[in-house]
Amino acid sequence: MPELPEVETVRRTLLPHVRGRRIARVEVHDRRLREPVPESFASRLEGHRVVGVRRRGKFLLADLDDGGVWLVHLGMSGRLCVGTPLPGTPHVHVQILFEGGEKLYFQDPRRFGVMRVEAGEPELALGPDPLVEGVDGEMLWALTRRCGRQRIKTLLMDQRRIAGLGNIYANEALFRARIRPGRRAGRLRRAEAMALAAVIGETLEEALAAGGSSLLDYRDADGREGGFQRRFRVYDRAGLPCVTCATPIRHQVTAGRSSYYCPTCQR
Ligand SMILES: [Zn+2]
Repeated sequence: MPELPEVETVRRTLLPHVRGRRIARVEVHDRRLREPVPESFASRLEGHRVVGVRRRGKFLLADLDDGGVWLVHLGMSGRLCVGTPLPGTPHVHVQILFEGGEKLYFQDPRRFGVMRVEAGEPELALGPDPLVEGVDGEMLWALTRRCGRQRIKTLLMDQRRIAGLGNIYANEALFRARIRPGRRAGRLRRAEAMALAAVIGETLEEALAAGGSSLLDYRDADGREGGFQRRFRVYDRAGLPCVTCATPIRHQVTAGRSSYYCPTCQR
């Protein structure tokens, strides 16, 4: 599932292809996404120029020349591909043709994505973005006091608290902070909350520098895979030796999501 580093990589690779370009034609092949693509979607985009592409948490926001905002969420498996759709994946839901011939494809095999146009700035109930505003240690500490009964990993993945973290980077950040994913937030010590806040940005920056993580589906807008999956310290490493102490990494399912941790290094 694309998280902050993947969405930011898509934004950066998409930008040179679409900025300043006018949208000539939009074809919606299948409206059935997490929320149906609105009937007005094509007419709302056609004839308009893309002024820029921003990101807020895991949302991509393309600004249009009339003040409208074209909002895209990649969901579980959404991809925006420039040029040609990715081979072997027939699920092209939306196809956008720009003046000058550039083509953009939205593919989403699992259909948890979202695509719509809003008249102005969308109301997104999102917490601070770790790469824009950073994660403040005091803020995270206060959050662990307020939501003490929640498991710390679940808290990190709550987009209203911190925008952009999903299961991969929550697991990776918790390993670096030496905290078990299943611990109740209220059981963290102040120093642990501070350490955790510090490693969140560090983890995401490293992943971004590697072009994100490609598991099953993720590609950037030019169809390239990310490389951070080769540097996971715990995620998807059940039974493999911990990179620090060689203890086998444990796997546990909490709240329907996979947690990975080292029973020796993480407390
Ligand atoms: Zn270890």
